[in-house]
Amino acid sequence: MTEKFDGVVVGAGPAGVTAAYVMAKNNMNVLMIERGEYPGSKNVIGGVLYVKTLNDLLPGFWNEAPLERKIVQHSYCLIGKGEHTLVTYSSAGQSEPPNGYTILRSKFDRWYAKKAQEAGGTLITKTNVTELLSESGRIVGARTDRGDVLADVVIVAEGANTMLCEKAGLITKPQRDQMALAVKEIVSLPSDRIQERFALNEGEGAAIHYIGAAFEGLVGFGFLYTNRESLSAGYGAIISTMMRKDIKPYDLMEKFKQEPSVEPFLRDGLVKEYQAHMIPEAGYAGMPRLYSDGVLVVGDSAMLANPVTGEGMDLAVLSGRLAGEVTVKAHRARDYASRALAQYERLLLDSFAVRDMKKQSGLLKYIEENPQIMSSYPEALNAALGNWFKVDGSTRAEKIRRIRSMITSKRKIRNIVKDLYVLGRKMM
Ligand SMILES: Cc1cc2nc3c(=O)[nH]c(=O)nc-3n(C[C@H](O)[C@H](O)[C@H](O)COP(=O)(O)OP(=O)(O)OC[C@H]3O[C@@H](n4cnc5c(N)ncnc54)[C@H](O)[C@@H]3O)c2cc1C
Repeated sequence: MTEKFDGVVVGAGPAGVTAAYVMAKNNMNVLMIERGEYPGSKNVIGGVLYVKTLNDLLPGFWNEAPLERKIVQHSYCLIGKGEHTLVTYSSAGQSEPPNGYTILRSKFDRWYAKKAQEAGGTLITKTNVTELLSESGRIVGARTDRGDVLADVVIVAEGANTMLCEKAGLITKPQRDQMALAVKEIVSLPSDRIQERFALNEGEGAAIHYIGAAFEGLVGFGFLYTNRESLSAGYGAIISTMMRKDIKPYDLMEKFKQEPSVEPFLRDGLVKEYQAHMIPEAGYAGMPRLYSDGVLVVGDSAMLANPVTGEGMDLAVLSGRLAGEVTVKAHRARDYASRALAQYERLLLDSFAVRDMKKQSGLLKYIEENPQIMSSYPEALNAALGNWFKVDGSTRAEKIRRIRSMITSKRKIRNIVKDLYVLGRKMM
């Protein structure tokens, strides 16, 4: 006989586990279905987990979760041609709760899924959900490669590139300019060497985001994060721009690792893992239908990602929590119709995450159409600083004139002002 649950969650990443945790805590009989060998076995993050949304749900979770390093240094590195500029913000890292930690998903997701299990949720792994089951237009369960399960409500949390939403008609297939491909290496290094290279104390970590010449005008950025005994290095870029420029992800990764602003950190490290994964970048306009009769969509499946900060995991937790809470209400009222589940969309659209995404609408398109933002500007800034610091017998006034003409030879002042205005409006 086909088993029936109050709720079925497809995918045991942060979005799905959060929804399952909230439902299980409220005495719902919930099943998480994960295709990986264990939660996190296939998942990828750069990655910094920003603490706020998970701390709202599990206060003080960082005292017991398997975290790598507390981030106390955030930097932007603007790469020019043979030169770079590093801007670093450092804090003593005393704030409570801390802002963010680096994590490794294979450890973190496992720990997090256990929390949902301890709350009463059931987890099955190595099981692939192939489609959602529907009856008279209402979702009533999930078909897996091991049989069917029935549920009053199904939460789709299968990450980016959601086949289930496509099959159920909740989203049209994302285009290549709506998805980024991210590649990443985990490079092993002793912890004392990491601390030395990044000027950190034990337990402290650094996050560097890179833009500029290294990425050949792609719309995307590179990153370098410190774990306890390894570094995570990689980059993500919109797929259509990679294809247009015929860039092979692995070649670009090798080039990025050789950059003078990257190589000294990685030197003598041993590559332990190579990973590649999609990031949804369709933004607010490309979000799927977030609910229908008997179904809710959360996390990357809902296209929740912030291209400016690189956040995705905390947005997954936020959406999972809101979906879980709305489902608990629906369960109490025994009403799983879209009218009742619509509250999830209202709450999500009103959240900081989606308000930011709404503001950033069109940002990536603007950058794609104005590639100088990703390449010429970082180059110009580096060249200007190079000029400024060089002692070559010219006066400061002569240097400023030279810098000004160097910048305006690449782009007219009115276009620079327009770029700054558009970026400022969309990002702030
Ligand atoms: C390289 C890279 C760097 C990133 N860096 C950061 C960062 O620094 N900070 C940050 O906040 N975010 C970062 N992100 C984004 C973040 O990883 C995602 O936003 C987040 O993982 C989304 O969580 P999720 O639960 O929605 O999906 P996922 O974490 O992708 O989880 C989906 C789960 O569903 C399972 N699954 C999929 N399909 C099925 C199926 N049909 N049946 C059963 N199970 C299924 C998968 O195995 C997986 O466990 C990064 C992403 C990448 C790729």
